[in-house]
Amino acid sequence: MDRVYNFNAGPAAIPVEVLQKAQGELLNFNHTGMSVMELSHRSQAYDEVHNNAKSLLKELLNIPDSYDVLFLQGGASLQFAMIPMNFLNNENIAYYILSGAWSEKALSEAKKFGETNVLASSKESNYTHIPKQFEANSLQNAAYLHITSNNTIFGTQWHEFPSTNAPLIADMSSDILSRELNIEQFDLIYAGAQKNLGPSGVTVVIIKKDLIEKANKNVPTILSYQTHASKNSLYNTPPTFAIYMLSLVLEWVKEQGGVAEIERRNKQKAQILYNAIDESDGFYKGHAEKESRSFMNVTFTLPSDELTKAFVQEAKENRLIGLSGHRSVGGCRASIYNAVTIEACEKLAQFMKEFRKNIK
Ligand code: PMP
Repeated sequence: MDRVYNFNAGPAAIPVEVLQKAQGELLNFNHTGMSVMELSHRSQAYDEVHNNAKSLLKELLNIPDSYDVLFLQGGASLQFAMIPMNFLNNENIAYYILSGAWSEKALSEAKKFGETNVLASSKESNYTHIPKQFEANSLQNAAYLHITSNNTIFGTQWHEFPSTNAPLIADMSSDILSRELNIEQFDLIYAGAQKNLGPSGVTVVIIKKDLIEKANKNVPTILSYQTHASKNSLYNTPPTFAIYMLSLVLEWVKEQGGVAEIERRNKQKAQILYNAIDESDGFYKGHAEKESRSFMNVTFTLPSDELTKAFVQEAKENRLIGLSGHRSVGGCRASIYNAVTIEACEKLAQFMKEFRKNIK
């Protein structure tokens, strides 16, 4: 097979078994004589796909019945706006902890709808760590506290979530399903699918039913959580093929041994790459401080821009793809989401060693 080692930040690698299953079912899904894409979203055959994706996600993440699982469109970026539209009003304040560019984007949408407060930020250090110094247990008039659980661009991740008296909202776009979670710590979790869950096109929202009750009533119908929760995410035509792919990815996670096993592998994968950085005598430098390092996006720099360019180019020639860092950090980034194998990480670590050796 001529597939590459894919370290793209998103859209990103999808398990090959999932792609093969989709390929096998493409022309005739489950004896319907058509592909999933061609089914009516009101048909029983599609209904099974939709509800299977929902119940698998509930099972894999241990989501209690006091939460709804929604399949929306518009990406995580629409959630940046939907959250304040639904929960911010004239009497409350939306609190944000800034840990990267995506948190900033979320905040800037909230500012359009009401009062906001930046509780903590690590911007001054160019987001090398997750903010530590803040008190979130006595927030006044809090609509919610928003965090970004994994910072895709900077390669940092929350390893312990803040305790707070406010409803806790987390953008988990780049680490959902990568580790075990206590869902009850959160009131709303959202994630675009295109990193750990499947192809782009569907956004998963896990929302406490109590929170939906508190939502503003004057929100456009399509942007109201109430609409989607009351219609089982079938208010309008959902992204049926993306939800089908999500269901296949979730089945794959279950077959692998569930989220606990996925988490074990992810830690092993990250360790392989961080070791390659730490054992390079400073040739590769990690962007993130050690205690904030992400298990999903490994960011590092090389001694010069020329070397970085050469590294990315030679890696490509060795079938290691998607290693350029984001322009705001520079250097390189290896995104090692659930579908990236341990073998891929070993290949990359080996390549990093050889590249350094050949420079000297
Ligand atoms: N939040 C995070 C943490 C992300 O990594 C991304 C995309 N890379 C987004 C939000 C934006 O997601 P989308 O493109 O689905 O709107």
